[in-house]
Amino acid sequence: MEAVAVGCQTGVMSAPALDTAVYLDRMANVRAAMVEHDIDTVLLSVGQDMPYLSGYLAMPLERLTMLVVPKDGAATMVIPELEAARVVEQPGVFDLLPWSETDDPSALVGKLAAGSQRVAIGDQMWARFLVELIPHLPGTTFERSVDVVGALRMRKDEAEVEALAAAGAAVDKIAGELQRGEIPLVGRTEAEVSNHLGRRIVEEGHQKVNFAIVAAGENASSPHHHPGDRVIRENEIVLTDFGGTMDGYCSDTTRCVFTGEVPSDVAEAYEVLHEAQQAATRSAVVGAACQDVDRAARSVISDAGYGEYFIHRTGHGIGLEAHEDPYIVEGNELPLEAGHAFSIEPGIYVPGRWGMRLEDIAVATADGCRPLNNSDRGLVSVDA
Ligand code: ZN
Ligand code: ZN
Ligand code: ZN
Repeated sequence: MEAVAVGCQTGVMSAPALDTAVYLDRMANVRAAMVEHDIDTVLLSVGQDMPYLSGYLAMPLERLTMLVVPKDGAATMVIPELEAARVVEQPGVFDLLPWSETDDPSALVGKLAAGSQRVAIGDQMWARFLVELIPHLPGTTFERSVDVVGALRMRKDEAEVEALAAAGAAVDKIAGELQRGEIPLVGRTEAEVSNHLGRRIVEEGHQKVNFAIVAAGENASSPHHHPGDRVIRENEIVLTDFGGTMDGYCSDTTRCVFTGEVPSDVAEAYEVLHEAQQAATRSAVVGAACQDVDRAARSVISDAGYGEYFIHRTGHGIGLEAHEDPYIVEGNELPLEAGHAFSIEPGIYVPGRWGMRLEDIAVATADGCRPLNNSDRGLVSVDA
């Protein structure tokens, strides 16, 4: 059984470098948002905000890499000298400022951001970087960068939507193999099937496996079940939820199959689930609030009497990260815009008995909601 690296974070998993014009454009949009939100400097480090603006993904290490974006004037990438050679320079987007092993990189950042009243920092910046920076910026207020970078990242451009669609089509092929019985289930452990899915995700063009949940029978009632030694048997539901990162963009789909004839109680519940997923997809139009999409799915499930078994939000945004804004959840009044990409994944989980979830990635467009996963959405019965 071949081991698959699930969820590993390395410094090389960034999206392919884009034309400088794309980064210039994104940088201009960030600066406009900074003016609007009264932010003097944006500081980005580990995580996907920095590559979104610069093409460079920082190694998640203790040495500080930081992109300093002032409201006006040139942006600077403060980077460990030994990593500077890996940066693809983007003329006009940022200048490189390498620091050597005996320099104090926080002091360098402090100088570049000196005089800033309000600084926005990336969500995934390590706490130690911020703690080390605070003494260098006395009197500065720190905010999260969600308003200035997050809002832009939510709105996928055409190339980003196509990257998500390609990743979606790749995992759809694997879902089809499951549904046709080409990936054996009965007699194998959940972990074996999970490794099989992970291998296929890579073979289908992903550089990284983010997760491959396989949950059989009663285990499927735990939405994030960790695949283990449980052997898959005949006549039970098998929930699979898998995805990875392909050329920088993430895939994520959930399909359930049944290892035998589907019993009527499970078939009835699945019909409700399928209807809920369709209702949510129909409702996910430009202008609808994120919470309306959640409500569309939830009301179908509640009306059918399964409301207490739908124990999570309907979806999450997706892009450079597997989970990002916008979240499809009650209380999120954010209106959907063309280019917002997110999962629609209602579930029904009966504790100790079985669980089911149906998940597609979708993108809001001027012509309605476009699903980026299109494998069979039924509860397919696979021969044992
Ligand atoms: Zn999940
Ligand atoms: Zn999923
Ligand atoms: Zn998901």
